[in-house]
Amino acid sequence: MGFIQIHILHHASEDSVFGSWMLDELKSHGYNLSAGTMYPLLRTMESTGLLYREDRNVGGKIRKYYKTTPYGEKVLYEARRKAYELFKEIHN
Ligand SMILES: [Zn+2]
Repeated sequence: MGFIQIHILHHASEDSVFGSWMLDELKSHGYNLSAGTMYPLLRTMESTGLLYREDRNVGGKIRKYYKTTPYGEKVLYEARRKAYELFKEIHN
């Protein structure tokens, strides 16, 4: 589980997210991902059960929204715990 995935799980647990929103969000944290990386990543996280997808019609276009599943919440909880442990250790 990488930082990008943890970041996605975190935001998708607070509210539904979609690809281009997530790209902007990560950009504000200094990650420059391309759409060609983000969309397959979201699909993979969906197929591994971390996210579930909800298609919504936005002005005649279907937009895929993702939300963290209960399993994803468990993975996020564990990742948060480990990230905190690491933070405590490397932060002097
Ligand atoms: Zn963020």
